[in-house]
Amino acid sequence: MNFTIQNVLIATFDDYAIVDVQVVDGAIAAIAPSLEVIGTAINGENKLLLPGFFNAHTHSSEMWQRGIIPPLPLELWLAQLYDFAPLDTEKVYLSALGTAVETLLCGGTSVVDHLILIPGKELETIATAVRAYKEVGIRAFVSPLIQDESLTAGIPSGETEQNHEPYFRSTKATLELIEEAVKQFHRPDEGVSLLVAPTGIQLCSDALFQGCIELSNKYNLCRHSHLLETKAQEKLAQEKYGCTAVEHLKRIGYLGDRTTLAHCIHLTDNDITILAETQSTVVHNPLSNLRLGSGIAPILKYRQAGVNVSFGCDGASSNDSQDLLETIKIGSILHNVTDLDYQHWMTPRQAVEMASLGGAKGLNMANELGSLTVGKKADLVTYDLTSLSLLPRTDPIGLLILGRPTHAVESVWVNGKQIVADGKVTTINVDELRQQLFHHSQWDTKRKSGTVAQIEAHYRSIMGL
Ligand SMILES: [Zn+2]
Repeated sequence: MNFTIQNVLIATFDDYAIVDVQVVDGAIAAIAPSLEVIGTAINGENKLLLPGFFNAHTHSSEMWQRGIIPPLPLELWLAQLYDFAPLDTEKVYLSALGTAVETLLCGGTSVVDHLILIPGKELETIATAVRAYKEVGIRAFVSPLIQDESLTAGIPSGETEQNHEPYFRSTKATLELIEEAVKQFHRPDEGVSLLVAPTGIQLCSDALFQGCIELSNKYNLCRHSHLLETKAQEKLAQEKYGCTAVEHLKRIGYLGDRTTLAHCIHLTDNDITILAETQSTVVHNPLSNLRLGSGIAPILKYRQAGVNVSFGCDGASSNDSQDLLETIKIGSILHNVTDLDYQHWMTPRQAVEMASLGGAKGLNMANELGSLTVGKKADLVTYDLTSLSLLPRTDPIGLLILGRPTHAVESVWVNGKQIVADGKVTTINVDELRQQLFHHSQWDTKRKSGTVAQIEAHYRSIMGL
């Protein structure tokens, strides 16, 4: 559908302008004052128009455990997460819908779902998430989370002898599964892309990484992994490879301009240089990193080194929401305490660019998405500048990023199709989704993780606690 947004506020280089924006066949056709109306006229008065943001790293099905996991570091938190991970696809469907809705209502038009697969129902899990994202209409980058080592292998051995159970599925079978998923579901033109997404060095063999690189090259797929989220992983890389994880990933050819890496907290200066040289993208997950005590990623250093950075909420049980605007706010101001020189601090406009263009770059779509540019796809968001949280009138982007915007998103278009109007998702029934989420869950305060009980003593001794 073609439309023209009239008299809408957009950011210019260092100011704002009121313009009309024509959208034809899903793409931005013109941006200028007083344009002829093509298609439907949309009143943009007192609205701020921005390119859609990317929720560049999350795990949708963690929604079922948000708010319940006690304060634990990643390795123990993961043990609890997997002990209670949902095993039916109905839940996968509902949490993908929920993740999409929350992302949209915080200005996100794209979501990278590092999707946890139900053992034995892997393709079904992927099909279900794809169906949910298509129904909502958000642009989806479905990244089936794979590994080929069992959970305990992710904890360094230290001086001890550790025997790990073999992973339940072979590396070969895992790669075949991903290739089949790519054939069935990778449809970038329809708004659904598949990524190769080995979870990270802590649980993946080189054979798995190599297989993912081959699939990525064969089908032109982006690559997505966790990287150096914890101190334990930093130690583990030295045990496994005798060098840093980044040095190893470079050696095996995993890094590149289509590779996005979540967290990136414990990197050396040389590692940062490697990320810049290989044009890899860092996904900043500040809330998850605080929640799990993982650390503060050196984002200002990345930016100074020329590393592309985008933002992700991370899964909803290490966040414990999918509020992308909150992630961008914390991810912008957190670093002010790490560098005395305020001239290095991130501005709200820089944060907006990271959340939009930074996300697009990491997914190899900077030519098509991420900015208000004629010819790019119309993944657009308008914010209601008369919303209480964006008043009184000051600097709209400053207040959007540094304030606490609530109910500020007015309309969202993905590929030129409107999927949020008047602050409400129009493609699915959100009231029904609320009821379903309610009925498929219960209040719970008593659960205990068997795996945490098994591995906690070893973890504490390895970490010197
Ligand atoms: Zn993650």
